Amino acid sequence: MDQNQLFDRIHFIAQTILDRLSDEVFEWRVLNIENDSQLDQPEPLILDLRSTYGNNSFFSSGDLPPGVKVEVGATRAKNTYFATYPLVVSEPDAIVTLASQIQDHLIEESWGSPLPACPGHTHPLSADNINEVAVWRCPASSEYYTTPIISSNH
Ligand SMILES: [Zn+2]
Repeated sequence: MDQNQLFDRIHFIAQTILDRLSDEVFEWRVLNIENDSQLDQPEPLILDLRSTYGNNSFFSSGDLPPGVKVEVGATRAKNTYFATYPLVVSEPDAIVTLASQIQDHLIEESWGSPLPACPGHTHPLSADNINEVAVWRCPASSEYYTTPIISSNH
């Protein structure tokens, strides 16, 4: 997986999270995706993700960025928000981390609405990794309600 493929995948994941979260309030979309450490680098950072993504060598190569920065926001809003997709954890954990951050931003922007709503409950669903699948679950009981964050068709 090269950098473009990785960014495409992260864009898809972030947009899927947004589609689930923002239906009831406003339409948010992915505005930008970039290397998290790029802003701190005096020169453009050159990555070779093909040799490192998908195995465990991230932990031993200290010059790689810790994650990919995802900018999200409502189409007509002036405020945008940043979330990080971490590269040093498994994909389910990275999806959970990204979903939780985007969820926090949307709840803040919607004055504390429970997003995404837990069916029949007043609290929002929680992002979690259950058996290496990133899911939205009822925080009281995963047996009450659990649904994959990303459809298994993708
Ligand atoms: Zn619940």
